[in-house]
Amino acid sequence: MIKKAEFVKSSQKYTDCPDPFKPEYAFIGRSNVGKSSLINMITERKSLAKTSSTPGKTQLINTFEMDDIWYLADLPGYGFAKAPKGVRGGFNRMIYDYIEFRKNLVNVFLLIDSRHTPQAIDLQFMEWLGNKQIPFSIVFTKLDKLTSTQMQKNLNHYKVELLKKWEELPKIFTSSATSKIGKLEIIGYIDSLNVT
Ligand code: GDP
Repeated sequence: MIKKAEFVKSSQKYTDCPDPFKPEYAFIGRSNVGKSSLINMITERKSLAKTSSTPGKTQLINTFEMDDIWYLADLPGYGFAKAPKGVRGGFNRMIYDYIEFRKNLVNVFLLIDSRHTPQAIDLQFMEWLGNKQIPFSIVFTKLDKLTSTQMQKNLNHYKVELLKKWEELPKIFTSSATSKIGKLEIIGYIDSLNVT
C-alpha cells in the first residue's frame, strides 16, 4: 500500500521534470483509456490524477512522489482524432524525448482498453519502445466491462499480434479501477523493481 502520494510538479518537457534521483515509472495510453482512474486506484486517492482531461489541451508530464521513494509520471494521452498519421501519431515529440532520455525511468506502463482489438497506434508505440530498448509492461484496463471469456479472447488476440513482431511478450497486467483489480500486482511489481 502507498502511504504517501504527493503531486510534485507539471512539466512541459523532460528537462523540467524533478531531479532524476528517484526511480520513476511512467503511465501512458490513449486518451480515455482509464489512466487517471488507474493511478487513483493504485494510490488509493480519489483525485490525485485528474480524470477526463480535455483532449488537445496543453500536454504536460505530471510527476507524483510515492512514499518518498519513487516517482510516478502521468504522461499525456495520445491518439486524438486530429493527430497526424504515422508512427508518431498524435504523440508529442516531448513525450518521445521524455521516454528516451529520462535517466531515472525504470518502466513504462502502457495502458490499453481491454475492450478494443489491437490498434495500430499502440502497436507502433510498442515497436518504438522495443527499438529503443525501453522496458515496458502492458496494463489492460476496464476489465469489469468484459466477461472473462471476452477478456481472454481479446487478450489472446493481442498476444498473437505482439508475437508477430516480438520473440517474447512483455509483462501483462489486467486492471479495473471500478472493481479495484490489479493494484497489488502493479504496486508489487514496482516494489520488486525498486529493490533490485
Ligand atoms: P484517462 O483519460 O485515460 O485518464 O481516463 P479516465 O481515467 O478519465 O477514464 C475515462 C472514462 O473511463 C471515465 O468515464 C472513467 O470513469 C471510465 N473508466 C476508467 N477506468 C474504468 C474501469 O476500470 N472500469 C470502468 N467501467 N470504467 C472506467
